[in-house]
Amino acid sequence: MRNLAVILVISIVYSCTVQNKKPTTMNTAVKKTEAEWKAQLSEMEYEVLRNKGTERPFTGVYHDHFETGKYVCAGCGNDLFTSDTKFDSHCGWPSFDEAIKGSVIYKKDTSYGMERIEVMCAKCEGHLGHVFEDGPAETTGQRYCTNSVSIKFVPTAKK
Ligand SMILES: [Zn+2]
Repeated sequence: MRNLAVILVISIVYSCTVQNKKPTTMNTAVKKTEAEWKAQLSEMEYEVLRNKGTERPFTGVYHDHFETGKYVCAGCGNDLFTSDTKFDSHCGWPSFDEAIKGSVIYKKDTSYGMERIEVMCAKCEGHLGHVFEDGPAETTGQRYCTNSVSIKFVPTAKK
């Protein structure tokens, strides 16, 4: 009988430990099958967000766009960037010197013989672009080079 109690205690402790190991982002993570993404996204959005493609420079809608508001993920609506971190990099893609804290994740990308840091949405892991160290020196020095097709602008409501 005592043994049984010990086993019971151990299994309760064990199941609590396992539960605690679950990442806190689990509740908010957006997981979809490739077929679901294909149905939801446009062809270009799918190519960039899910296949890590890149839109041609100066062809997106946001490289020359400087209104007040925020930019959310085109895949899942996660808040990614605010307009006050956007700057004119003249590179043909929307550029930000900072992402909203916790909104993106980073991954080393060695494709095309280059070593770059890929930036992805932290919720749906959609590909956004890359971050480079040649951003404005007076702020963060970073340039989040982002595909227009990966993001959607949401204007700040006028009061
Ligand atoms: Zn997303």
